[in-house]
Amino acid sequence: MAKDIVITITCPVCSKEFSKKAKDLKDGTVVKCPKCGEQTKIRGTMFTDMAESTEKGAGHA
Ligand SMILES: [Zn+2]
Repeated sequence: MAKDIVITITCPVCSKEFSKKAKDLKDGTVVKCPKCGEQTKIRGTMFTDMAESTEKGAGHA
């Protein structure tokens, strides 16, 4: 059973830390700070790559 990888994101504006699942952080995804509403766009696929490698049980790339 795959375990979700949770990424901690720090808001660049208010420094609030909040969590998102790695598999939800695709390239181009916009995450919104729950405190100040700042929107940060995810660039690149490193989070989804992490989630996929874990689901496949591949270990190190
Ligand atoms: Zn914020």
